[in-house]
Amino acid sequence: MEKKSIYGLTLEQLTSWLIEQGQKKFRAAQIWDWLYKKRVTDFSQMKNLNPGCIQLLEESFFIQSLKEEVVQKSEDGTIKFLFKLEDGNLIETVLMRFNYGLSVCVTTQVGCNIGCTFCASGLLKKNRDLSSGEIVEQIMNVQHHLDQVGKDERVSHIVVMGIGEPFDNYPNMMDFFRVINDQKGLSIGARHITVSTSGLANKIYDFADENLQINLAVSLHAPTNELRTQIMKVNKAYPLEKLMPAIDYYLEKTNRRITFEYILLKDVNDHKEEAIQLANLLSNKRHLSYVNLIPYNPVDEHNQYERSTKKAILEFYETLMKRGINCGVRVEQGSDIDAACGQLRSKQIKKDKARS
Ligand code: SAH
Ligand code: SF4
Repeated sequence: MEKKSIYGLTLEQLTSWLIEQGQKKFRAAQIWDWLYKKRVTDFSQMKNLNPGCIQLLEESFFIQSLKEEVVQKSEDGTIKFLFKLEDGNLIETVLMRFNYGLSVCVTTQVGCNIGCTFCASGLLKKNRDLSSGEIVEQIMNVQHHLDQVGKDERVSHIVVMGIGEPFDNYPNMMDFFRVINDQKGLSIGARHITVSTSGLANKIYDFADENLQINLAVSLHAPTNELRTQIMKVNKAYPLEKLMPAIDYYLEKTNRRITFEYILLKDVNDHKEEAIQLANLLSNKRHLSYVNLIPYNPVDEHNQYERSTKKAILEFYETLMKRGINCGVRVEQGSDIDAACGQLRSKQIKKDKARS
């Protein structure tokens, strides 16, 4: 049997597996305690398991499959990790420090097929989906890093905003949530988890039906179909007349506030006109909307775009506020390192190609 990541199994799945293998049911809770509370990185350290059980685990699973290729530390405390997967693919994970806690941004796919015209992650087509274990393992790696520093710091928040479209890897993403949310494991509360989608409307309906307290963010980036299609070609498959009803369904079903991400591109989508159109688009769901204005992080390969001026950002913000739309401007983290999503990975791949 090919080895899998032990972090990919929910407690229930691990329990059934142990029973199938003729092991005692209570071993699952013991194993989880070693993994998520004591946070060991070797099965042999699980002292209260018998040698037979340890051997069985060693033959069937691995604990650490990610290799740290690059670790970049920013002056503001942000740490960016470039990990190599078992098959050699590279992914990124970021730790950010906020006044409310430590947040980790995870990757869900190797590359991205959505291909937004401003994004470094989409420069390379999706190679494969990450397994739920590989997504959990990113957080565990960061947590192990913090454990080693010894300041008793815990990862408290998760944003699913790294490389990839999480709703294009839906079942693995859901297993990932179940693992990290479980009180017997990392116990990261659903309200502390945010998933961001480019707007796959059909999956927004499914997500609404899950009945979870997880926060949803939708990358909108433009208030009209014409402009949105120009910036994100996914708008052809899911134009606003499909996306907005899915969002209305989500709001009705969950009564939870949605965050709309709006990347500000100089002279493309940052005029007063677009701010007014955006306010109109969201006017009937003002009470459950928050617009996150994101200053564009320049990406070498997408030199058709520039960051909006401070004046334009402020005017856009004020136009929305005047029309009663809750909004804020995202404060950049780690601006002195390769902060834009997918940038570190694309730079490393270029370097590797140049060497070979
Ligand atoms: N695929 C999902 C989640 C990953 S991208 C999505 O698109 O929502 C997460 C966020 O990072 C998106 O809102 C995206 O627009 C933003 N982003 C991507 N490239 C960026 C860049 N160069 N500068 C600023 N934000 C960027
Ligand atoms: Fe993919 Fe999101 Fe980047 Fe678009 S912004 S290419 S959906 S990762």
